[in-house]
Amino acid sequence: MVNNKRRIALYFFVDAFGWEIYQKYGFLNELLPHQSKLETTFGFSSAADPSILTGRYPDEHTHWSSFIYDPDSSPFKWMKYFAALPPQIFDRWRVRHNLSKIIKLVHGFTGYFQLYSVPFKYLPYFDYLEKRDYFVPGGILRTDTIFDWCIRRNIPYYCSNWRHSEEQILKENKKAMSDSLLRFAYVYLPKLDAVMHEYGPFSHQTQEKLKSLEIQILDLSGWARKIYEEVSIYVISDHGMAPVTGTHDLMTSVSSLGYQYGKDYIAFYDSTMLRLWFFNTQARENISELLHLLDYGTVISDEELKRLRVFFPHQKFGELFFLMDEGLLINPSFMGLKPVAGMHGYHPQALHSYSIMLSNKEIPENIHSITDIRKTMESELE
Ligand SMILES: [Zn+2]
Repeated sequence: MVNNKRRIALYFFVDAFGWEIYQKYGFLNELLPHQSKLETTFGFSSAADPSILTGRYPDEHTHWSSFIYDPDSSPFKWMKYFAALPPQIFDRWRVRHNLSKIIKLVHGFTGYFQLYSVPFKYLPYFDYLEKRDYFVPGGILRTDTIFDWCIRRNIPYYCSNWRHSEEQILKENKKAMSDSLLRFAYVYLPKLDAVMHEYGPFSHQTQEKLKSLEIQILDLSGWARKIYEEVSIYVISDHGMAPVTGTHDLMTSVSSLGYQYGKDYIAFYDSTMLRLWFFNTQARENISELLHLLDYGTVISDEELKRLRVFFPHQKFGELFFLMDEGLLINPSFMGLKPVAGMHGYHPQALHSYSIMLSNKEIPENIHSITDIRKTMESELE
């Protein structure tokens, strides 16, 4: 029997809304009585968001960390001319932010791009993976996203513009829902992540932000119910957020061994993970030994990388990986110079890494990972 009812599936993506936060504060418990604890993918949003949209792991969709070792393809070769200039000028956030915009424009990047605090002198060793906006169809080369899937099946959908503010996004979703009959809306709500990075996941500010998200989601769902006879509501997230309990200056520890960056080794200091490449056996042995002796993190074995579905034989993401224990930050890092109160990017099975799915519909038993979210989308839209 063909279902001619006007039906819509609303997926509210709330960045970094983790299972632990949900357990503590709850969220729209009456509207969304069904919940599932989801395991995230190892890495940062650059890995998790494509995993949600493709329903696949990083070793399949090939998006893991944003900066990869590839000096031949680096779009930052010309940055070496800035390297000699005083860092006080170029390390200001505003200056880097504007420069990021210029680089985006010059290279025609359509994806999310930030220079963060990667030192200019090291940028020419790296390429940037997310050149394309994967929220638009065809954005992921290796496989399809749910948006490609909708287009192939002529399913009318609306995907939020992640460049806009949450207020704008909510307005634009309302408009899209009333302008034409949709089957699927992807409502992108990124601000909770920023609030928790700044104030910590268990802060008063987080609680306030959750309250305002509840009001906004109720409002948009109510709007949809006026137009559509059947409204499925899902709140999903990419990962959780851990409270930061300490920092370690790993950069100083590694450089104190006396090896030369660029000649003996290359390092990329993410906020929770150090990735290394070596050109010198002695450097590999000694740096590796140092990392194995540290008591605040773990060297991730190839077996573990394979198990976590982030093993890449080309090694552009790294040859050796050191992951900080939950709650600890590498500081300073290439992601920031000042410590923050909340962070993600720890082991997917660390307490605060888990993400959520909440719904007004029963969630099937087989939904355990963020890569399973796509299954629920497909069954809603089939
Ligand atoms: Zn974040």
